[in-house]
Amino acid sequence: MPISLSGLVDKIKPSFTLQMTARAAALRAKGVDVINFGVGEPDFNTPSHIIKAGQKAIEDGYTKYTPGSGMLELKKAIQTKVKNVTGTLYDTSQIIVSNGGKQSLSVACQALFEEGDKVIIFSPYWVSFPEFVRLSGAEPLLVDTLPSEQFEPNFDDLNKKIDPSIKGVIINSPSNPTGGVWSDQAILKMLEISKENNWIVISDETYEELVYDRDFTAIDSLNSIGAEVLTIRSMSKTYAMTGWRIGYTIADEVIVKAMSKIQGQTTSCPNAIGQKASVAALLGDPQPVLDMKKKFQERRQVMFDSLNALEGVTCDMPGGAFYMFPDFSSYLNRETKEGKILRDTFDLSDYILDTASVVTVAGDGFGAKGYLRLSFATSSEIIKAGIKRIEESLKELK
Ligand code: PLP
Repeated sequence: MPISLSGLVDKIKPSFTLQMTARAAALRAKGVDVINFGVGEPDFNTPSHIIKAGQKAIEDGYTKYTPGSGMLELKKAIQTKVKNVTGTLYDTSQIIVSNGGKQSLSVACQALFEEGDKVIIFSPYWVSFPEFVRLSGAEPLLVDTLPSEQFEPNFDDLNKKIDPSIKGVIINSPSNPTGGVWSDQAILKMLEISKENNWIVISDETYEELVYDRDFTAIDSLNSIGAEVLTIRSMSKTYAMTGWRIGYTIADEVIVKAMSKIQGQTTSCPNAIGQKASVAALLGDPQPVLDMKKKFQERRQVMFDSLNALEGVTCDMPGGAFYMFPDFSSYLNRETKEGKILRDTFDLSDYILDTASVVTVAGDGFGAKGYLRLSFATSSEIIKAGIKRIEESLKELK
């Protein structure tokens, strides 16, 4: 008898960035020398004082369930960290810890949105945003951005699309996939429009520590008008802790309670060992984070120079994260030696993988035709070698 799955499965798309990672791993297993610009995580290991705190947590018996919304000790560490970044002292009742920022976002959407609601997402968008919204029953409403302005919102497009069924907006600065960092003015404008229309603003600040040309501005520190804001942060990128699975949300107590109810019936609580390690990360020596940031900044320059030296490719300098989002549209509709026409960036990315063994991620998957996403979370030598290989492949196109 055929297995019958729920409609939800068809409603959402699989994470294609995870699929690209799996493809790179499969090629490597076959012995292919793959250069992977598809990675969405730091190549550094978790700093040693954090690892030690994790080991100690296991030895001390932190191997059991914790409170569903996270340990009080971690919430207090978050409170301290957030006070330092935003100047605001939140009550621990306004904090919920989850198994990664991904769970925070997913649970937040389920707690806030439902069928009939629309949620604004700026395009290019991180692949999971529309899916979190769809999982909640609501519909994503895509709004354009301005590539030459760090992919800030195109407010003309936004104003045209305003309608009463919009319930919220998701913003993400620094951004995955573009690396764009919005100006304070753009964020302020979003806060004003959101307040006027009674939208909740979900601010994904996963890449908060990776801002290179200025200080990071947390949305909270700009919200003197009192728009409804929910902030999500993660241990993953800042502290090179992707596998520990800890992220957190700061929001109104009512929302935190609702999220705790949903989370309690899905994963019971966040990972206990990861929570203890996160306390050490948030309160411990900040130097390893600063060292990683310095390395990323050097690599950003190397990738920027290498990409802009490619014929027909243009790329603005991203202000944050570890992604470049160059425009490769001049290579679309070109023909390979085998006579295949590269219709979109999925074709182009496949062609680069097949001929140069370099993993890139197709911009079409992020809602951006003509662009590729390349991660610079790898060494400068590998960046140079990988872009050289891409150059050779592109030269073969007719
Ligand atoms: N938000 C953005 C923009 C991301 O790029 C990611 C991970 O790639 C996340 C959230 C979630 O990260 P995690 O679940 O590891 O905290």
